[in-house]
Amino acid sequence: MTTQTEPRRPVPVPDETSAPFFEGTLAGKLMLMRCRACGAWRLPARDRCDRCWSTDTEWAQASGRGTVFSFILMHQIYHPAFAAEAPYNVTVVDLNEGVRMTANIVGCENGAIRVGMPVEAVFEPVSDSVSLPKFRPAGG
Ligand SMILES: [Zn+2]
Repeated sequence: MTTQTEPRRPVPVPDETSAPFFEGTLAGKLMLMRCRACGAWRLPARDRCDRCWSTDTEWAQASGRGTVFSFILMHQIYHPAFAAEAPYNVTVVDLNEGVRMTANIVGCENGAIRVGMPVEAVFEPVSDSVSLPKFRPAGG
């Protein structure tokens, strides 16, 4: 008898650069890089500030709040582990900190997603050591 298993989703593997981000998501916090010299937030993580070129950087907790900048509904199945969810949304969120983050909107139908909709981060465990940030419609 053949045992058939569900295809497994690819899970991010945190590295030295992204570890603070993933430690945050595991703890239910959205951690982003922030410039100590000018205060500008940045995403993705990188060595130098876009605004002032400083390399003096810290990781800080972002609000997790923002608005939908843009979104698409993905019908194409690029990986079999996501087949059951298609069509699923891929959304770009303008975070209140001034950076954009790509994630999925959860907690509402795809047809209810609107540009400008206020959203807040939620965290979905995908393994024992990794949680992914997603966004849901923000209450009030
Ligand atoms: Zn700066």
